[in-house]
Amino acid sequence: MSENTITNRAAETQTVHTHRTVCDGGGGAGGHPKVYMDMGQADEVVCKYCGKKFVFKG
Ligand SMILES: [Zn+2]
Repeated sequence: MSENTITNRAAETQTVHTHRTVCDGGGGAGGHPKVYMDMGQADEVVCKYCGKKFVFKG
């Protein structure tokens, strides 16, 4: 029996302290290849793979 059946989790928001961040979707079966993201002039970026939002907070 597996308890790992949750697939409709809401997109998370994570506070970061740099404009460059990395996301791998949490790794494991629910993850995705590691991608590096740069917010540029913005203060937030959304991972195109898993929808996770990273908000810059200096
Ligand atoms: Zn992601």
